[in-house]
Amino acid sequence: MKPDIRDLTRSELEEKLSALGLKRTHAGRVFEYLYRQGAVSFGWMAAVPEKVRAALGAEYALFPFPAAEKRVSLIDGTKKLLFRFCGGAPAESVVLPGKYRTAACLSSQAGCACGCTFCATGALGLKRDLKPSEITAQFAACLRQARGGLGSLVFMGMGEPFLNWENVKKAILILSDGRGWNFPQSRMTVSTVGIVPVIEELAASDLKIKLAVSVVAAGEALRSKLVPLQARYPLSAVIAAVRRYCRERRALVFFEYILFDGLNDSPADAEELIELIEGIDCRVNLIPCNSPAGRGGARSQRAGAFQQLLIAAGVRTYLRLEKGSDILAACGQLAGKQ
Ligand code: SF4
Repeated sequence: MKPDIRDLTRSELEEKLSALGLKRTHAGRVFEYLYRQGAVSFGWMAAVPEKVRAALGAEYALFPFPAAEKRVSLIDGTKKLLFRFCGGAPAESVVLPGKYRTAACLSSQAGCACGCTFCATGALGLKRDLKPSEITAQFAACLRQARGGLGSLVFMGMGEPFLNWENVKKAILILSDGRGWNFPQSRMTVSTVGIVPVIEELAASDLKIKLAVSVVAAGEALRSKLVPLQARYPLSAVIAAVRRYCRERRALVFFEYILFDGLNDSPADAEELIELIEGIDCRVNLIPCNSPAGRGGARSQRAGAFQQLLIAAGVRTYLRLEKGSDILAACGQLAGKQ
């Protein structure tokens, strides 16, 4: 089977054209057709010379993507899109309308191998990595659903983006390419549960994306029960990598902290978190727990008290509004079901 041309970054396409004895400069025009005009065949690319189209068509395909099944939240208008990519691999994207701008949340893998105990995607196991074209296809579908365009993009859907990093990185380069969608990297956030080598790679790279790290629990013992990957990348190593990232990039990092009622939301837990992230230029997003079954965590008094303790310690903190829980589209609920 031929590979899909939309799995290539523009520089990869330039290399390929050069290897075929063709001008590298055709790559920009091909990108415009693919991403600005949504070309579905090489025949669409009227301004690309016939011999270039023929050469590319001999090597690559433009596979049609399956239409997404859509559900819309009656509570807040959140939209969930379910794709079944080649081989039935499920992937879900979420379009989150906000007061001022709409965000999209994309999947990086079909399922996930990490097995976090609170997460419906983790319970699925890993079906397979998504290809760059399957990640950017989600973006295109979300864009069509977002009235007024998309203001930001997060890689927080199904999968651990840093365990499919090569493909996610290519998708980021394609999405931000000036001859394509030109979506700014500075408005993209990649969320990880803490894959230390990739955090270090990101610190040394020239990508402009933002980093979010799921802390889940500030104590290593409790985190071990919730995040199996803790055995490979202990929280102390993750936080040390984050400190290096912030220093080298002079960038702010986002911490995601899921509030489980009565488990990690006591004043002592707040103190432990404050100590853990002390001195890091960060913002903490507090996420009321969403059970995979759809029982959403409310903004409880305990959550409010937890937030107040962080604020009193000078930590920028945001208590996230739960969105899309009635259609299983909130954090931790994506499981490839409609
Ligand atoms: S929380 Fe993220 S890393 Fe953990 S199982 Fe779910 S999708 Fe995977």
